[in-house]
Amino acid sequence: MASKVEVTDVIVIGSGIGGLTAAALLQERGIATVVFEKNRYPGGSCSSFQRNGYRFDAGASVFYGFGENSASGTLNLHTRIFRKLGVEVRTIADPVQIHYHLPNGFNVAACYDRLAFLGSLVARFPHEAEGVKKFYRELDEVYEILRTMPAGSLEDVNHLLAVGASSPLMTFALALKTFRSMGKTARRYIHDDELLHFIDIEAYSWALQDAVSTPLVNAGICLADRHFGGINYPAGGSGAIPAALCKGLEKCGGVIRYESEVTEILVTNGEARGVRLADGTEHHAKAVISNATIWDTFNRLVTDNRYRVDEKRFLKAPSWFQLFLGVDAKVIPPGFDVHHVLVDDWKYYDQLGGTIYFSAPTILDPSLAPPGKHVVHAFVTAEVEQWTQYEKGSEAYRRAKEQVAAALISRTERILPGLSKAIELQVLATPLTHERYLNRRDGSYGPLLKPGQNIMQKPQNTTPVKNLFAAGDSTFPGQGVIAVTYSGVSCASYIARKFGKPLEELV
Ligand SMILES: Cc1cc2nc3c(=O)[nH]c(=O)nc-3n(C[C@H](O)[C@H](O)[C@H](O)COP(=O)(O)OP(=O)(O)OC[C@H]3O[C@@H](n4cnc5c(N)ncnc54)[C@H](O)[C@@H]3O)c2cc1C
Repeated sequence: MASKVEVTDVIVIGSGIGGLTAAALLQERGIATVVFEKNRYPGGSCSSFQRNGYRFDAGASVFYGFGENSASGTLNLHTRIFRKLGVEVRTIADPVQIHYHLPNGFNVAACYDRLAFLGSLVARFPHEAEGVKKFYRELDEVYEILRTMPAGSLEDVNHLLAVGASSPLMTFALALKTFRSMGKTARRYIHDDELLHFIDIEAYSWALQDAVSTPLVNAGICLADRHFGGINYPAGGSGAIPAALCKGLEKCGGVIRYESEVTEILVTNGEARGVRLADGTEHHAKAVISNATIWDTFNRLVTDNRYRVDEKRFLKAPSWFQLFLGVDAKVIPPGFDVHHVLVDDWKYYDQLGGTIYFSAPTILDPSLAPPGKHVVHAFVTAEVEQWTQYEKGSEAYRRAKEQVAAALISRTERILPGLSKAIELQVLATPLTHERYLNRRDGSYGPLLKPGQNIMQKPQNTTPVKNLFAAGDSTFPGQGVIAVTYSGVSCASYIARKFGKPLEELV
């Protein structure tokens, strides 16, 4: 007699923040969920790793979504989710989102205090005082609408009807704004070229696109909530966020299985039935959520060619060259901000390696490094093609990495003189590392909208394969930890309703 196949409710492929958020919220509603993660730890681009007593953020280190309800409205998704799961993540207020160091001695800190930030822009561009006020006011207006709306799935008619009925005018206003670009809106009010470059780097620093290609709606969250809910760093490093989601998942009876790479999504008659792991075992579920990128999901894990995704449907963002340093604390002067963005020349800011991102989270949480030391994380965009000629572990690969690192450190000395002499530990990562650790096609930051596409053209959580869903930065609204958290909430909310156990509102 054939043995009965065990079928769980939901399988989640990957424990990035999008996948884990969906898993934890589904399990909290009593929907049995199993997460398969290829690494030995959770979090993907929002994980931490340790070397010689230093704890590094593998990727993200600027965090939104930890504000109180009164400050952020409904946009404080981490606060609300952790409250719902009954787990705690202690955070440390981060007073400056990014300190920009731009060409021609233009330095400005995007600080929590909105008036101080706008005041420093007006001090440099007094002739644009009105334009600055009006442009940032537009972002605040988007923010004001979004902060009143509960998170849910845009594919869930019940959710849309509830939101539309509770605030019809706001919903209509938001619908109109989804078609607008941040850069085109800026150009209605601002004419100074240098200030428009600044608006571009305000977009590029998180969207990896110029302001014209960046939706106004996304800007309304990233560039407004920093002044309301604020930026908050999780004590213990970025890995504290996935650790808390795992705790919530497991507390409610869910399961996460590490070192379990999914090699195939099992599809029969157009319907996802489960997954096959690298060890050959098959696992069955009523629904499967992929937290992998859209290219990895449909051009690798789903083997039926009819579901292949056209490579040209979106732009593929580049990957990263990353530098993780342990440094003598003396090199960082008192009062130094945690996050910095450096541009040497506006001609190259959006070219590979043109913009340097820098964070030193030990300024907020000294426990991330041994006493008397700091952690430094600096990175620039890079493409996998620049590195495929090298064999992993080879001398040539090591030398090439060190060469790029030395140039990056030398450019960073503009804000931290003496950095090269203060280094006690150096760990280097290329797009190949990124691809290997995260299973992300070419180590890419993910799909970006093409010029002319609007945010509603981002894939939502349902897919052309029945019972196969997607969460993470390939889906609406896009890249960033708070964005993928939203995608996880909306994915869980859609699936939970299908299972007849709709999510309760996150309060
Ligand atoms: C260098 C860098 C800096 C960043 N800085 C910030 C920042 O400061 N603030 C911010 O908000 N965002 C930042 N981001 C972006 C943010 O980290 C990501 O957008 C977000 O974490 C992506 O989450 P995700 O859910 O899409 O999953 P990912 O992080 O891509 O994780 C996917 C997980 O799935 C696993 N997986 C994939 N395929 C399989 C498979 N077949 N089987 C099993 N497991 C699989 C992977 O191992 C991984 O753990 C940064 C990103 C990078 C790379």
